[in-house]
Amino acid sequence: MPGIIEARHLHFAYTRTPVLEDVSFTVDAGDYIGLIGPNGGGKTTLLKVLLGLEKGQGEVKLFGTPLGEFTDWHKIGYLAQKSPVAQSRFPIAAEEVVLMGLPGFSARIKREELKEVYAAMQQTRTRQFAGKIFNDLSIGQQQRVLLARALVSKPQLLILDEPSTALDAGSREMFFDLLGKLNTQNGTTILLITHDTGEVGKYISKFMYVDKNLVFFGTKEEFCHSQKVAEKLGPFAQHTIDHLHNTHGHCPLGASCRECKHD
Ligand code: ADP
Repeated sequence: MPGIIEARHLHFAYTRTPVLEDVSFTVDAGDYIGLIGPNGGGKTTLLKVLLGLEKGQGEVKLFGTPLGEFTDWHKIGYLAQKSPVAQSRFPIAAEEVVLMGLPGFSARIKREELKEVYAAMQQTRTRQFAGKIFNDLSIGQQQRVLLARALVSKPQLLILDEPSTALDAGSREMFFDLLGKLNTQNGTTILLITHDTGEVGKYISKFMYVDKNLVFFGTKEEFCHSQKVAEKLGPFAQHTIDHLHNTHGHCPLGASCRECKHD
C-alpha cells in the first residue's frame, strides 16, 4: 500500500536562504497529523510544495502517483491560510464559493451538485448563509464556508493551514469536532497546521514538527516523550496535550506535572 503522501528529500528556498531542508516522511491512510513548529519554520511552504503550488527539489507522491502526473485533485481538500476568494472583492454568494470545490463545476449547475453543496454547508453549519454574499460574512463564517468548499468533493485527504485562528471558541470546538469525526468515521486523512497543540491533541494521531528540518514525526505518545521536542519546546508544552493527563501514570513528569489530575 503506498502512502497517501510520500515526501522524499524535499528542499526548498524562496531566495538563497533554505526554508526546507531534506524533509522526508510518509503520511498513511487514516492519519490525523498536527503540523506544528515556530513561525517562519516552513509549515505553509511545506504544504504548498506537497500540493505543487511551489516547486521544490526532491520527490512527492500523492496517492502513489508522482506529483507531476497527479490529476485526481478531487481526492484532496485544501483550506489555505489566505484564500484568494476571501481576498477578492468580487460579490459572490457563499453557495457559489462551495460549488467551486466540486470537480469540473460549470456555469450550468446541476440539481445533484446543489444537494452536495448544501450537505457540505450543513456539515459546517453554514447552510443559512448559502445565498449571502461571501464578503459580507464574518471572517469566522467565511472560514466555515471555505471548509465546506474543501469538503464538498468528499476528499480522502484534507490539508488545512491554520484553520482555527479566525474562529470563536464555539466554532473552533465545532470545527475540531467535525474534523475528528471525518477522520474516525469516514477515514479521511488529515494534515493540519495548528498552534493549538492542546486542543487538537485529543483528536490527532501524530505530530509533525517542522523547523526547516523535520525535527519530529511520530505518534502523539512519542511526541510527549521525545527529548528532542522537549529541547525545542520546553517540558511543559508537551504536557498541555489532553490525553496524557487522564491518568498521571502515563505522564513522564509524574507528580510534578501541573496538568495531571492527581488523586
Ligand atoms: P510557517 O508556515 O511555519 O510560519 P512559512 O512557510 O510561511 O512558515 O515561511 C517560511 C519562511 O519563508 C519564512 O522565513 C517566510 O518569511 C518565508 N516566506 C514565506 N513565503 C514567502 C514568499 N512568498 N517569498 C519569500 N519568502 C517567503
